[in-house]
Amino acid sequence: MKFLSTRGKSPQVTLREALLRGLAPDGGLYVPAHLPKLDFAEDPDLKADSIRSKFARAVLTPFFDEETAIREKLELICQDALNFPTPIRRLDSKTSVLELFHGPTLAFKDVGARFLAHTLDLMDLMDPDTSGRKRMKTVIVATSGDTGSAVASAFHKREGFQVVILFPKGRISARQEKQLTYWRDNVRTFAVHGDFDACQKLAKDAIADFELQSKHSFVSANSISLGRLLPQMIYHARAIVEYTSQTGAKPNLFVPSGNLGNGVAAMWAKSLGAPLGKVVLATNANRSVTNFLATKEWKPLPTVATLANAMDVGAPSNIERLRSLFPNHNHLIENVDSESVSDIEISKTIKEQPYGEVWCPHTATAVYVRNLEKYKAQDAIICATAHPAKFESVVEPLIGRTVSIPPSLGAMLIHSNEATDLEPTLSAFRSSIR
Ligand SMILES: *Cc1c(COP(=O)(O)O)cnc(C)c1O
Repeated sequence: MKFLSTRGKSPQVTLREALLRGLAPDGGLYVPAHLPKLDFAEDPDLKADSIRSKFARAVLTPFFDEETAIREKLELICQDALNFPTPIRRLDSKTSVLELFHGPTLAFKDVGARFLAHTLDLMDLMDPDTSGRKRMKTVIVATSGDTGSAVASAFHKREGFQVVILFPKGRISARQEKQLTYWRDNVRTFAVHGDFDACQKLAKDAIADFELQSKHSFVSANSISLGRLLPQMIYHARAIVEYTSQTGAKPNLFVPSGNLGNGVAAMWAKSLGAPLGKVVLATNANRSVTNFLATKEWKPLPTVATLANAMDVGAPSNIERLRSLFPNHNHLIENVDSESVSDIEISKTIKEQPYGEVWCPHTATAVYVRNLEKYKAQDAIICATAHPAKFESVVEPLIGRTVSIPPSLGAMLIHSNEATDLEPTLSAFRSSIR
């Protein structure tokens, strides 16, 4: 399998190159050259009752066919990366929830981050320096909250890797900050005086800076990395197969969406042959994707802050992947819907506790959209992307009681925060990272 740029002006590359480069030289994002059809009806590994790591291997093998070191270990990698459940649970006769928040940092991003960590490790990217010693890689990531802690957790104490996290000071929840600053050892966390865009720019500038790059060998772990996206197909495909085998129905899949990574992975799973109706992208008040599907015109918008902060993206980069999968707008809207949900509707949903459950603000967008008149009668899987305890300051006042804290979060809350303050300039970064 080769990988192409969404902009079509760069040569095709292997998965290894795509992972190392992040962006293609023409500024596009890498996508699989084709999406093979898998035999979900007949392949015993792709059935609802197969072992999950075998299922994962069957989904991913076509994409890793040229990466011999990894291909042979895919089942093991998936066993280790997915060392927590991603259960699909019945809510009513036509609705199930896919719970993606049982990992170490309580959001779906643990899946991609852990898989990426294992993959980079095995790829043995550390080219020896002149003395033949292997060089340390520095994983750099800008985060609006959830990505940073998932990446830190996945690479923590992993030999050969340093981690640099850049988060916007004062713009994340108290518990998110605890999860970002907990790690120490090989993880350095910077509280950047600026917004998420400033963090992202700093990460990009650092990677592009020749001197810094040659010293630190940065690899990006941001959400455009294929190493995070590809494994996300596994849980979507698995949930769809399980749902269909139990009910005989073809569900729609409701995905709380920001940068569209999870939504694209769901669409890829459908393209592989998983029996899915529509992928329904639930966004918050950042409505550029919803506008695009309605008008055919792609117009990125300035980001607005909402209660579902991990989805505050005005110009989602993965829109390029969605558009390259469906160059024809009619094909796109046959497969994908999008609805924008306001903060008022998010609050109302959390407060009403549909299905008798407490939802995080992100998942609440998908729960709200699932219950719109036009979808109500159809079968549905709702992706639950984070645990509500992560966003207690939004959730608890609305439901009028506390949300109990899972043990993995509890351990992080008792540590004191340790982040280095940083001005959003490359020169400040250069002297801080020394
Ligand atoms: C990152 C995140 C999202 C958005 O996912 P994308 O892949 O960027 O669309 C949704 N919910 C939660 C809890 C997240 O952390």
